[in-house]
Formats: sequence, C-alpha cells, structure tokens
Amino acid sequence: MANYLAMNRDELTAEKAALEAEYKKFQAKGLKLNMARGKPGPHQMDLAMDLLKMNDYTTDAGTDARNYGELEGLQEARVLFADVFGVKPEEVFVGGNSSLQLMYNLVNIGYVFGFPESPCPWSQVEKRKFLCPVPGYDRHFAITEEFGFELVSVPMTPNGPDMDIVEKLVAEDPDIKGIWCVPQYSNPDGYTYSDETIERFAKMKTAAPDFKIFWDEAYIVHHLTDEIIETPVLLNESKKYGNENRVFMFTSTSKITFPGAGVSAIACSESSMKYICKRFSVMIISYDKMNQLRHVRFLKNKEGVLAHMAKHRRRLVPCFDAVKTAFKNNLIPCGDIAHWTDPKGGYFISLYVMPGCAKRVAGLCKDAGLTLTGAGSAYPYHKDPQDSHLRIAPTYPSLDEVETASELLCICVRLAVAEKLLADKAD
Ligand code: PMP
Repeated sequence: MANYLAMNRDELTAEKAALEAEYKKFQAKGLKLNMARGKPGPHQMDLAMDLLKMNDYTTDAGTDARNYGELEGLQEARVLFADVFGVKPEEVFVGGNSSLQLMYNLVNIGYVFGFPESPCPWSQVEKRKFLCPVPGYDRHFAITEEFGFELVSVPMTPNGPDMDIVEKLVAEDPDIKGIWCVPQYSNPDGYTYSDETIERFAKMKTAAPDFKIFWDEAYIVHHLTDEIIETPVLLNESKKYGNENRVFMFTSTSKITFPGAGVSAIACSESSMKYICKRFSVMIISYDKMNQLRHVRFLKNKEGVLAHMAKHRRRLVPCFDAVKTAFKNNLIPCGDIAHWTDPKGGYFISLYVMPGCAKRVAGLCKDAGLTLTGAGSAYPYHKDPQDSHLRIAPTYPSLDEVETASELLCICVRLAVAEKLLADKAD
C-alpha cells in the first residue's frame, strides 16, 4: 500500500486491478451484512429482558397504572427522566415508546396551532424554515421537510453547530422557526456540544418570538469510554436569560432497553408543559403507564441507567474498535483519501471519503452484500454537496460481521478513490 495521491497512472491502474480482484473475492462470499441503521444488537436487548418480569402495577402513590390518567406520565417516571435530563420532575412529560413521535407531534402543534408566543401558526408562514446542522439525523430532517419547511444547512464542528452562522441566521430571519440538535454524541459524528455552544443557544437573540430548539438527547447516557461526559442542561441555562420556552429536550430508552417498546420523554418549561398538555389531551388520554412503571422498577434511577449502559458498552466498544482499526490499517497508508470521527459515545462513526466518492463507495458495498445508509442521507434532501459522507453504524451486526464489513468497506473506499483519481488524470 502506498500513498494514492502520489501514484502515477500506471501505478494507480495496477492498484485498481489488485483491488478489483480483492473485491471480487468478497462478492463471491455472498455476504449479507448491514451497517445502515443505528439498532442495538439482540444481545443488548437481552440485557433488558428482566424488565418484563416487573408485573406490579400499583404506583408509589397507590394508583393503578393499568388505567387511564396522568397524561404527563407517572410521577415516578417523571422523576426518573428528570434525573437523567438534569431538570425538575414538573418539567418532564413521559410519553410512549418513541421520542421521534413526540418531536413530530410538537412540529405538528406548531404547524396547526402555533405556540403561545407565535404571531400565527407555522403553516401560515409562507417561507418557513428550519435549521439543520449537517451532517445530521435524516429522520429529523424528514419531519420538517414533510411540513413544508425549507431545510437550511448549518455546518457541524466538533463543538456543535457553527454558532456564528446560527446566531446570524436566527437574529435576522423571523421565518426560521427552529433548529434540530443532537447535543451529546451527535448522530452521525459523535460530537458533544461544548459548554460555550450550549450557552450561546441559551442566550441567542432570535427574530422569531416562537423559535424552538429541538434538543434531542437520544444518546445522553450512551458513553463508550470511562469518561461520563456531562454538559450544562440547556433548559436550566435558558432560564438564566428568560428563554426557557424556546427549549424542548427529548430522550427515550430506545437504546437503553428496547427500541420497539421503550419509553420516551420531553423536558420543557412548566409553562410550555401546560400548553403541550392542553394540546396532547385532545389527542390521547394517557400513554402506556404499565411500561413506564416497568421501566422505573427495572432502571430505578440515573445510577441504575448508567449501570445498565455499562453492560451495553462492554459489547459495543469492540465493534467500534473493529471499525476504527480497519480504517487505520487499511486507509491511513493510502494517504489523505479519507478521515473519520472517533466518538466517545452514541451509535455512529462518520466516514468522510475523498469528495465525489461516497455514492460510489455505498454502491460498491451494496453490490458485495453490505448495506450502508444511503450516501447523502445525513444531509437535507439527501444531498451531500461534497458526496463525501458515509454514516457507519457498527452496533447491530456481530463482532465477526463488523470485522468483515469493515474490511470490505475499506476495499470499496480504496477502489472508488483509485477510480476517481484515474478519471481525474484522464480529464
Ligand atoms: N433521535 C436520534 C438522534 C436517533 O438517532 C434516533 C434513533 N436512531 C431517534 C431519535 C429515535 O428515537 P425513538 O426510538 O425514541 O423514536
């Protein structure tokens, strides 16, 4: 292996032929591997099976969790999530199994009714816009796209979104109604917002009085190292500036217990809580409180959650290491053809390949039996202007599979880059 960027045409042609031969060997294996979505593996979900043994449905207050009531969630579930978020129980709303659905519902409320501070419902803002730090989570972007918002990209940095750009945009344009954020172990880069970024979000001036920060703490306790990274709590910071009504924080136990049958939560100001409860009460009488209670009895408190996450970590770290080792051994010697993130938590690694190659890499992988998230999907409208980014999700496959998939992925990256460099030389 040598630096591809220093190779002449003949050397590149020979390298490409060698890679094609290796690629064919992988194709002949008839692989069926998937590193597309951030799903826990079966062993991780097995860790939570005792949750189903929790079959006592009398709450701490003596009420019956099987019945209707307590729309905001069981008190003990609000206490648990308050502990995880770092806020007060009165500021927590506990929902059903999906935080994404809560986010959708809140955008929907803004769209149909607006919020108490809204001059009009968002649907009546003809050029409504939403800020999307990129790369980001495709399902966030899909929600605001579906409601007709223009998706405005803001570049991510290792400290969070570029705040100079965010502050300027939101100060000038009242049609910008909100921003999607994954502040801890972001999807897909695995970056954690710095204290300064959080402070700037808390105090920034917005032209829209009803600007909302959708602060998705999907990975708040999903540490991959011994370091338990904790950041300032946006809701609490915002109160210092009287901006607490702009914040909606979200989390869920999808990647703590079961993605299909966990519990989700919102944290917001008490005044926002009153407003959303009024709207939600028309939609639903109460969520699945039996599941809420099972989760509280199983996880107990934040300490219990962290102890449970340490068990996940033991399985996940080798999978993340396998990907990074393969990249280091197989890509670094080829020169500056790719770089990648080194997350301290969360579910993803971002791989940035030479611009113009990501789609080709994903296509090559697919034809050899490895499914990746579509190239470009971490960008609004699925358009990565550089065609460079790939989101790698090493959590679902077994360690053996991750190792094979990573090797194949490296061959595909090198082949796509060799093809591109040869094509560039032909121009
Ligand atoms: N937010 C982020 C950032 C995610 O990565 C995911 C799952 N991949 C979700 C939300 C989905 O959460 P839930 O299962 O609670 O709907």
